[in-house]
Amino acid sequence: MATVVDIDLMADVQKFGAAEVNACFSCGNCTAICPLSDNDATFPRRVIRYAQVGLKDDLLGSKELWACYHCGLCSESCPTEADPGEFMATARRYAIASYEPTGLARVLYTKPVIGTVIAVVVALFFAGFMMSQAELGGIDAPRLALFEFIPNDLIHWMGIVVMGLMFVAGAWGVVRMARAVGRREGVTLKDTFGSGAAWKRTFVALWDSIGVESLGQKRFRDDCHDDQVVEPLWRRRWLVHALTIWGFLGLFAATLIDYGLELLGIKETGTPIPIWYPSRALGTVGGLMLMYGVTVFMLGRWKKWTTAQAESKGSDWLLLTLLWLTGFTGFVIEVALYVTTPPVWGYWFFLVHVAIAMELLLMLPFTKFAHVMYRPVALFFYALARDKRAAEA
Ligand code: SF4
Ligand code: SF4
Repeated sequence: MATVVDIDLMADVQKFGAAEVNACFSCGNCTAICPLSDNDATFPRRVIRYAQVGLKDDLLGSKELWACYHCGLCSESCPTEADPGEFMATARRYAIASYEPTGLARVLYTKPVIGTVIAVVVALFFAGFMMSQAELGGIDAPRLALFEFIPNDLIHWMGIVVMGLMFVAGAWGVVRMARAVGRREGVTLKDTFGSGAAWKRTFVALWDSIGVESLGQKRFRDDCHDDQVVEPLWRRRWLVHALTIWGFLGLFAATLIDYGLELLGIKETGTPIPIWYPSRALGTVGGLMLMYGVTVFMLGRWKKWTTAQAESKGSDWLLLTLLWLTGFTGFVIEVALYVTTPPVWGYWFFLVHVAIAMELLLMLPFTKFAHVMYRPVALFFYALARDKRAAEA
């Protein structure tokens, strides 16, 4: 297949950040120092080179983009201050915007003011739509139970529609990305599912990418840090990242369990339940983990604790703010639920909570959040390459 060179590639990538990377003269220091770069995925020099020479297909088909956890070590060692770590983060933003079909991610990343306006309008749309259906009389005594303020069916159906849209946009991006990486790696569907041995390799690679790496954070925890600097445990990046992921998953699982309990008639919608109830306990612990992780991430960016946290885009703050507000309003609702007569502010917090949670889900494929979809796919190809090398050795 002919190699297509896009002479505008670097200029386009730079709209997403990484202004200094033109200073790179390909010395390779960054690749040598990167604790995650190895024979199966050499970066960041190689990825910078793709952008410099206009190899767009290679850039978008690089599993290496997603193997980087942005520790910033390479940026500290670069003799020309080209900031390769920030380039990797920029290239991931560019990739997210290139994989998804609507162009929304590009706007969110490259036009932060318009992106923020869109985010506010989407949240207002959800809130306005729910208010138009809300039982407003319920705010006057005798009040409705907190969760009956907005019809329960409306929330469920809105959730299903939003998740459906999110799934379609997300699946579209993941398929495009997997095809691009697969083509570049020379991995075909037959290699992956064509025989019993292929299935076995695929299963092992899936376990490595999802279980060991994405959920277990193995390389992030064991390798991705500066051996000379001991960060306090409470702000160690892998731990904060893991708490955020697990907190989010815990909240998601709690919502599903809660819904299941209601479907089975074990619990009524919106009724206060004891702290030891599975969904309540899981939701509370998950919420605390998420709030802790997001708050430390925000503090790190605000205080610029590390090289990697020195550069923050509007889109980074937007996502962190939405996550933080979701967690915070969730806890306020918990308090409101235990007041005998729900306070008026409880209804408003409930409205804000649901609107932002819906927005977060809807925007997943278009924000930095999308790395939860793309990183496991890249790590899957990474694990396949590692297994292949081990088999050949
Ligand atoms: S980014 Fe810096 S360290 Fe890496 S190859 Fe370029 S000049 Fe060398
Ligand atoms: S930021 Fe860290 S993980 Fe990413 S390329 Fe640089 S050294 Fe490697």
